[in-house]
Amino acid sequence: MNNIKCPHCGLINRLDALTCLRCKLALAQNAAGGQGAAAPVAIPTGLEEFAEERPLWVAVGLWGLKTRAVAWAFVVLSILVATGSIVYWSWLGAIMYLAAVWYFLAIRWVDKNSAW
Ligand SMILES: [Zn+2]
Repeated sequence: MNNIKCPHCGLINRLDALTCLRCKLALAQNAAGGQGAAAPVAIPTGLEEFAEERPLWVAVGLWGLKTRAVAWAFVVLSILVATGSIVYWSWLGAIMYLAAVWYFLAIRWVDKNSAW
């Protein structure tokens, strides 16, 4: 099966996709009429699902976070909130450290297995 890689964000879309699932960029539908912007790329069978689908914990962790920079901002924010909560409220604020770790691991996962 052929897929088409978005030239803008790098997401692997289905070949019949009119626009990129993530950034909504219009994708060239065939090589003959294309501007050379989006060349179909062949993904080895079995890897295509891997490239497209994020596991639930990654999808939830990065829900609504469009870019890597924003995701990193949430890591930093979570650490700041956790530290502030512990100092001014209760050790229960340490739970926010878990959120920071979650964001961090999700970012690492996307770096390795997918694209922003
Ligand atoms: Zn895209």
